[in-house]
Amino acid sequence: MHAPSDHPEPRRACPGEYPMWDQALALLNRDLAATLPEQEPLQLLVLPPYASDQPENVYVALSNGEWHGNCLNPHGAEADDPASALAIVADAAQETVSERLWQAWPVCAEHGLGMHPRDTDGQLSWWCAGERLRRGPAHVRAAVGALDTLVRPGRPNGKSRPGS
Ligand SMILES: [Zn+2]
Repeated sequence: MHAPSDHPEPRRACPGEYPMWDQALALLNRDLAATLPEQEPLQLLVLPPYASDQPENVYVALSNGEWHGNCLNPHGAEADDPASALAIVADAAQETVSERLWQAWPVCAEHGLGMHPRDTDGQLSWWCAGERLRRGPAHVRAAVGALDTLVRPGRPNGKSRPGS
């Protein structure tokens, strides 16, 4: 039991405490730096459990400690494998950024539309509805974590995708 004076304060997760979420968030932070360079990196913020038999509550928060949406679940799919972790951390990051900063994020520079994370051929990518509005196919802007390769064309991605 905590003493009443032990007021629960949010704390930043230590590096390596949630390594799979660290890795996922690093990719999202690359995209954040590429699209909103004035924003400090997102962080994993840990709040104490509501009850002693509950896990800690981990949120994807802005650098100022604000977040929006659900916490990450240490016993959920996001703790099982890297792909699920990336998908769920991407959702959480998008929700926090768009709701706390009051803007769609990330935005497709080609169409000016907010994009959504989607699994394409096993890789989580930012998907934009822009081409579909012109009766074209759905268009994938870039892999999550690779938006910076678009704004800095001097740095090729290296990962070429055959076909399509
Ligand atoms: Zn687009």
